[in-house]
Order: sequence, then structure tokens, then C-alpha cells
Amino acid sequence: MNKKRVAIIGAGIIGVTTAYELALKGFEVTVYDKNQTCSEESSFANGGVISPGYITPWASPSIFKRLLKEQFAKHASILMNTPSLETMRWLSQSIKASKSERYWRHRQALQKLALMTQSRIRELIQSLGIEVEQTQGFNIIYRSERHFELAKSSLPYLTDQGVPFQILDKLALQQKEPAIESETAFVGAIHLPEDQVINCRQFALALRDEAEKLGVNFEFKSTVEPLSADNPRKLVVNAKPMFFDHVVVCSGMGSLKLLSALHLPIPMTPVYGYSMTAIIKEPLDAPKCGIMDEKYKVTIARQGNRIRVGGVMEFGGDPKVHNPKAVKTLYKVLEDWFPKATDMGQHVQIWKGARPMLPKGSPIVSATPHPGLWLNLGHGSSGWATSCGSAHVLANMMNQDISSTDWLELSLA
Ligand SMILES: Cc1cc2nc3c(=O)[nH]c(=O)nc-3n(C[C@H](O)[C@H](O)[C@H](O)COP(=O)(O)OP(=O)(O)OC[C@H]3O[C@@H](n4cnc5c(N)ncnc54)[C@H](O)[C@@H]3O)c2cc1C
Repeated sequence: MNKKRVAIIGAGIIGVTTAYELALKGFEVTVYDKNQTCSEESSFANGGVISPGYITPWASPSIFKRLLKEQFAKHASILMNTPSLETMRWLSQSIKASKSERYWRHRQALQKLALMTQSRIRELIQSLGIEVEQTQGFNIIYRSERHFELAKSSLPYLTDQGVPFQILDKLALQQKEPAIESETAFVGAIHLPEDQVINCRQFALALRDEAEKLGVNFEFKSTVEPLSADNPRKLVVNAKPMFFDHVVVCSGMGSLKLLSALHLPIPMTPVYGYSMTAIIKEPLDAPKCGIMDEKYKVTIARQGNRIRVGGVMEFGGDPKVHNPKAVKTLYKVLEDWFPKATDMGQHVQIWKGARPMLPKGSPIVSATPHPGLWLNLGHGSSGWATSCGSAHVLANMMNQDISSTDWLELSLA
């Protein structure tokens, strides 16, 4: 039997995991990416957090109060440059999505994808012998009593989802994290023992090698032209037309341009974030688990012999220009919790990336009204944590050729 030919556009973490799952199902896969290797854009230096216990849509019921309040704060987790009309429209869609019932629906969808991702990544690391930087356990630290109490009140939800947790007082957190700065005021933490931090780019590069062993063909330095509405399964790459049985768009923020002629409702916007990576000076002064500072929404984790601090949501502005206020927030949070972990001297890498974000906060993993055209995009702030789950769901749908736009009801009900 002839194998179905699939083109995947994009070799970020979503494209690579999708390629691998489709190859396992017997598709003949070619991946195109405009960069010279995989994981060069949003998947490059992200926080690495895979936390089904913490994952939430960006548009939570309280986010907009925070957005307004933080514009005047010295250290902010959300920054708003002069908003365009488009950004304002996007924010108003987000407000609708943050209404309680929709918020919980999207949160549940994200959590299901994250749980699937967590177990699939473990399976792949073990069965394929992938060597990747990783740490076990995630601590969410609360600086205020009010936020800690609020978080504790939603813990029964984690119990229902089968996510183990422990409530830690100050002493218990200090026992888990002996290097934590005791002078910094906090009220307690929630420890998620099963959740992890894993180097996303390292994993993507390793899985690309494994996908190649299954016959996947990666074509780098290959920019795909915007798809035509007449035949979206015809790709034009470097002025050459090519035809496929299926096309999967996994192109992060590049998806908007690729799909512009098809008029699909994809209200995606780039929400910029930053990471700072530095060599660890003394391992005993660095965190053991992943850390989330809940006030500033900043993560701190080891990645091998380096420490990575990630966070900040910035709307608008120039993707290439670093906002000093954002970088200051990362430095402040590291300084507050692990001041001796690095000397902040040479070799500090500051990275700015775009989260491909939909107002609802959960991704689109689905067929489209165009036969043979599929989408796996809009993973926002949790693309790594939902990557393998999304790839698995999409590969199953394509294998059965299910044509539906409601992946959640079909695949995860
Ligand atoms: C600061 C920061 C921290 C983050 N931390 C975390 C975290 O801790 N945990 C987590 O789960 N997520 C995190 N994220 C989010 C996560 O990084 C993203 O959701 C994820 O990387 C998106 O992956 P992607 O494959 O969809 O996009 P990308 O990685 O951007 O890949 C898309 C690819 O498509 C290619 N492409 C686009 N257009 C074309 C074209 N026309 N032709 C050919 N190729 C094309 C691009 O070159 C690119 O390689 C973070 C993001 C940021 C910015």
C-alpha cells in the first residue's frame, strides 16, 4: 500500500513531535523549516517547565486586574506597549475566554494535554535512551497569604485530576530547597513532585534524530510560501511546487502569514517573553527543583550546569528589542531566591521569544474545512508542556482521517 505523503511546516517543538508521531503511524513525512535547524524560534530557550499541576490558560479570571495594576509597578510580570487596535480586539476576546466556565474548560483541556505529554516524554526518553537535561519536582512559591489561601482552595481540583501535591510551610520548603534565600519573605509553597523541567531544545534535537531514523525527511533553510485557498496541499518551497496528501501547519507565529488566504478564524498574537541563562557558580547554591515565583510568574530552574530564569508577558513592541524592565524583573526574582547561584558575569544569554497565543490559551489541534489541511498551533505559554500530547491527538485524528474542528470532544472526551 502506498504511504500517505505528509508535509509539516515548522520544526519547532510542535512540528518535531508531530513528525515523530506521524512517522510511527506509517506516514511518509517531510518537515520544512526556514531556519537551519529545529527549535530556533519560540522553542529555543523557553523555561522548560512541564507542569500538569500548574498549567493554566493565560486568560484567567484575575489576569486583567493584574494587567492594569502592573503597568505602574517597578517589577512587572505583564508589560503593555502602546496597544494596537488588533491587540485591543485580542484582549477583549481573552476577557470573554476568561469567564469562569470557559476558563475551566480550557484549563482542563490544557491539563489533559500536559498529562499526556508528561507520560509520553518519559516513555520516549526511556525507550529511545534520549539524554537530556532535566530536574524533578516543581515548587510554586507564594509571597502573600491571600494568594496562598486561594491556591490551596483549588487543590481539590488537582486531587480530582490525579495530580499529587504537597503543601509546604517555610521550613519544609527550605528542606526541599536548601539554597533558597531565607531573607526573602514568603508564606509557603505548593510542591508538585511529579512535575519536571526538561530542556526543550535539547529534546527537540534528539527527537529529530530519532524521527530521521524512522524515515522523516527534514528540509531546512526552506521557506514555504503562503498556502493558496484553491489547493492548500500544494506547497511552494524555494519557487518549486510540491503536492501532498496532507499538510500540517505547525508554524508558530508564522502560521498567520501561511494561512492568510484561507480566512480561517485564528486570532493568534505574539506575547513576548524573556529568559536569562547563566553558568552556575556553585551547584549547592542553585535550586534542586523547578521554581515558580507566583507573584512575578517567573520560573527558575537548572538546565545542566546552567540556571535559566524565564517569564514576563509583553504585548506589542519590537520583537528584536529587549525591554530593560522585563530583564530587570528576571534578575530581581533570581536575586530574591538564589542570589549566589551565578555571578551574573560573562556568558549570560538573554533571549526574547514570542509565545504564539490564542485568546483562550489552549491550542488549536484540528482538521480544517479544507480536506487534508490540519493545524497544530497556538500553544502560547505552554507549547512544550503540551507538545507530545497535541502531536499524539493530531496523529490519531489524521490516521483515522477524522474531519472535525473539535479535537477536544473527539479525542479527549
Ligand atoms: C520566555 C518563554 C518561556 C516559555 N516557557 C515555557 C515553559 O516553561 N513551558 C512550556 O510549555 N512552554 C513555554 N513557553 C512556550 C513555548 O516555548 C512555545 O509555546 C512553543 O515553543 C511553541 O512551539 P511551536 O513549535 O509552535 O513554535 P516555534 O518553535 O516558533 O516553531 C515554529 C517553526 O515554524 C517555522 N516557520 C514558520 N513559518 C514558516 C514558513 N513559512 N516556512 C518554513 N518554516 C516556517 C519557524 O521557523 C519555526 O521554526 C515559553 C515561551 C517563552 C517565550
